[in-house]
Amino acid sequence: TARVIDGRAVAARLRERLAAEIASLPFAPKLVVLLVGDDPVSAVYVRNKDKAARAAGFTSETERLSAATTEAALLARIAALNDDPEVDGILVQLPLPRHIRTEAVLDAIDPAKDVDGFHPLNAGLLAIGRPALVPCTPKGVMTLLAEAGVPVAGARAVVIGRSNIVGRPMAALLTLADATVTLAHSRTRDLAAECRRAEILVVAAGRPGLVRGDWVAPGACVIDVGINRLADGRLAGDVAYAEALPHAGWITPVPGGVGPMTIATLLANTLAAARARRGVGAIAA
Ligand code: NAD
Repeated sequence: TARVIDGRAVAARLRERLAAEIASLPFAPKLVVLLVGDDPVSAVYVRNKDKAARAAGFTSETERLSAATTEAALLARIAALNDDPEVDGILVQLPLPRHIRTEAVLDAIDPAKDVDGFHPLNAGLLAIGRPALVPCTPKGVMTLLAEAGVPVAGARAVVIGRSNIVGRPMAALLTLADATVTLAHSRTRDLAAECRRAEILVVAAGRPGLVRGDWVAPGACVIDVGINRLADGRLAGDVAYAEALPHAGWITPVPGGVGPMTIATLLANTLAAARARRGVGAIAA
């Protein structure tokens, strides 16, 4: 039966390490989160980011903007934060209201303050093997693999999902770590067969129970990124967990696996951005 990877514990250790580092700096790195509109799920995410940032010794501010905020007003706010020397990290919580173009907003963030790693410059640097600020969820997965001692170099890895937030940067990071990567998605023919070849299987499709137990090769490492709210209110991943458990060598639970790593990694990115901007150490890959 699989070793269950405890993302809460790994994230807690990472946050402690960051807090210790910040305590030794002559300044508190500052994160500003922009939340446009009143999506309740986004509000919860933003509150958790703010809490974790403060607990680790960051200065954290959340700016709540009304759902009626124009794109021009949001872009003007971002420009001001870009110019503010006290601000190290800028995060615009997604999704944005429909009348605002997400791309225009992401393009406007100073790449040096882009702690989500969604700016095209940072995405491009990752794609050509020069990672700078890297998206938090896939970077958090790499930390989990390292902490669990999962061999990555030379391994056959399959990633399900090709979003810019998770799947695509995940494939790039695994490639950089010398895995042999297959990027699968909704048009993949015979997904089960692709999965069965995987020594590392990262699932980020947003489809509860998509990956069945018999899709998991014996001893494989299964990383479940999915967070799905079921009709009965419970959270579930994209992997049929109970089915996969006896096949896998390692597995992440939902909740308590990848989820906690995302915020801890956001804080790591913010500290790295602060160090790089203020000339105290380069951004670590
Ligand atoms: P997305 O909807 O942008 O992308 C989903 C991808 O999965 C697409 O590329 C699509 O082609 C693929 N896909 C969808 N259905 C599929 C199917 N049946 N078979 C194969 N591929 C399929 O989603 P996203 O933003 O990448 O998020 C994916 C999941 O991860 C969601 O459940 C989301 O809530 C979760 N998520 C978790 C965290 C975290 O911190 N743990 C962070 C971001 C996203």
